[in-house]
Amino acid sequence: AMHGLALPEGQFDADPHELAGLGKIRLESQLREAIATNGLDLRLQPLFDIRDNRIAGYEALVRWTHPERGPVSPMEFIALAEETSLIVPVGDYVLDAAVAALCALRDIGIAPLPFIAINVSPRQLREAGLIERIVERTRAAGLEPGAIKVEITESQALDYVQVAEAIAHCRREGIHVALDDFGTGFSNLAHLHELDFDTIKIDQAFARNMMGSARARAMVEAIVDLVHAIGAQALVEGIETEEQLDVLRALGCRYAQGYLIGRPQPLADVLRRNGH
Ligand code: C2E
Ligand code: MG
Ligand code: MG
Ligand code: MG
Repeated sequence: AMHGLALPEGQFDADPHELAGLGKIRLESQLREAIATNGLDLRLQPLFDIRDNRIAGYEALVRWTHPERGPVSPMEFIALAEETSLIVPVGDYVLDAAVAALCALRDIGIAPLPFIAINVSPRQLREAGLIERIVERTRAAGLEPGAIKVEITESQALDYVQVAEAIAHCRREGIHVALDDFGTGFSNLAHLHELDFDTIKIDQAFARNMMGSARARAMVEAIVDLVHAIGAQALVEGIETEEQLDVLRALGCRYAQGYLIGRPQPLADVLRRNGH
């Protein structure tokens, strides 16, 4: 914490990874600069359909190529972007890049076209017009809005009414919605029944412990059953070994994501893997 500077309260909210508030302000202006000068990049990580034994889609994960530090993980800058509303232009960048990637995949003739899932924070949902922008930009590119999926993270307390409305709006447009990082953060089981998610993404923390402990494995099994009981599809994040994938297959879990299937990769690598 810094004292004695005439800056508004809240600028110095603790971020243990930052030196102090000043580092954060500098990072903010550098991020603003990066948004304006093509300093953001997209990586695509495959989402594996276990039942159909194919890659069903990709998750769009943003990277910031910092002039001095190189690629910076969103773990470091998304929270900052959310605090400063820079998340809106970051989200716009991601949507445009995802639509461009879908066009590239379509243009090399991949059929059926995989979907691309974009991460949306509760803050972005509060800003009006996100879903309209998804519809507008996909249509303008000659794509169905459903080619984009939305992942909403529970890392912040969710406004359940607002999320329910967003899900209903997405559904009218044919856009699927996933709940991200389920089981960590602000998970609120009492509200889950109100939210008609298509997919629940079970946080990688569960996969990590799954092979070492029967209790942890029982947890994954119970959560997958819970997800099915509310009529959603289950995806487990952080799958790094064949053994973990075998467990999911035995549980009837539909989707898996993790380094075993593929790392987040640039679009060029995805196209190359598809023979181009
Ligand atoms: P997430 O949405 O849960 O994304 C999955 C994260 O897990 C990614 O980290 C991915 O690289 C990592 N991961 C995937 N498979 C494995 C695995 O097998 N093992 C391990 N150890 N890690 C794995 P990443 O790219 O650092 O993203 C971190 C978080 O940042 C994301 O978590 C998401 O919440 C947020 N994020 C990323 N891109 C965006 C964005 O465009 N907008 C927003 N609002 N948030 C974003
Ligand atoms: Mg996600
Ligand atoms: Mg996740
Ligand atoms: Mg996660």
